[in-house]
Amino acid sequence: MRQTILTGDRPTGPLHLGHYAGSLLARIELQRAYDTYLLIADLQALTDHADQPEQIHLNILEIALDYLAAGIDPEVATIVVQSGIPELAELTGYFLNLVTVARLERNPTIKDEIRQKGFGGDIPAGFLVYPVSQAADIAGFKAHLVPVGADQLPMIEQTVEIVRRFNRIYGAILVEPEALVGRVSRLPGIDGQSKMSKSLGNAIHLSDPQDVVSHKVMRMYTDPRHFRVEDPGEVEGNVVFTYLDAFETDRGALEALKERYRKGGLGDVAVKHHLIEVLERLLAPIRARRRELARDPERVMRILREGTERGRAVVRRTVLAVRYAMHLDYERQPRAETEPTQAIEPPR
Ligand code: ATP
Ligand code: MG
Repeated sequence: MRQTILTGDRPTGPLHLGHYAGSLLARIELQRAYDTYLLIADLQALTDHADQPEQIHLNILEIALDYLAAGIDPEVATIVVQSGIPELAELTGYFLNLVTVARLERNPTIKDEIRQKGFGGDIPAGFLVYPVSQAADIAGFKAHLVPVGADQLPMIEQTVEIVRRFNRIYGAILVEPEALVGRVSRLPGIDGQSKMSKSLGNAIHLSDPQDVVSHKVMRMYTDPRHFRVEDPGEVEGNVVFTYLDAFETDRGALEALKERYRKGGLGDVAVKHHLIEVLERLLAPIRARRRELARDPERVMRILREGTERGRAVVRRTVLAVRYAMHLDYERQPRAETEPTQAIEPPR
């Protein structure tokens, strides 16, 4: 039986190199081997952008363009918009009974994000529980595999806990998912901060024009003690080399470059120019395809509409089984002594 992939992105801005290396590349590579669903998580984006609904709405098209330009094939992969599948919100409601507030507060990614966003004591309740809505997304599609960056591992762990708890109480209906972390599990930002992120303004976007990419690379941190070209330089922790590690496909050339940098005699500007070339090789074709696709937004909207419809049918089936298992079908006659507790099949 074919397995299912479900993963997604928040429409809080255009996609960046961190998305590409952490998750998008794996989706592109696996889209033909798995039933692949890509979820544009607009409801989740509202959990920390409640006052910017127009912007979130506009970004949906941008994310879809990024997917298609990067190599997602809408003939094999299905792109869905979260708010177009209200059953996901329904499932979130059921799952909220299976998790404690204390458990949500222990989630290390949520803790980091609360700090970063400066919520202080004013954490939107929806934000605290977004890992539960993510669990509903994954379980709603009965996904086996979730390609994500390292920051999402606590979310998958949380999903597995909820799914196990659900299956124990209501019968084995849901699938326990597994995370698939990309080769680059957490790409740092151009400012050297631990994660490139839409919200931190430290990203190189897949849609950035060439001069913007060059400018961002030239601003990157290198080795602060590498003053003169002839000084020996440090490769570890040097953002420019971290990016080369992530995106230079000629490993031999990269090793030679590192060797020269370590010995002394290779300037930061030269290494940055090399990185710009490497990134251009990746981004130029994406940019060109994106420009082409952006000419026909109606076609992209059609892909979203059809995808969301197909995805909704899948989630509906899951939610129907969930309701039946949870005795949320009030018309069913109770048959206390014969009621099965395992693997209850809903009526077709
Ligand atoms: P936001 O700042 O709004 O949360 P984001 O940049 O973190 O945006 P998300 O939409 O939250 O992006 O993440 C989508 C997917 O991309 C997730 O699987 C996440 O792990 C992955 N991802 C995001 N940033 C990086 C990164 N810098 N390195 C590796 N993977 C990343
Ligand atoms: Mg994020």
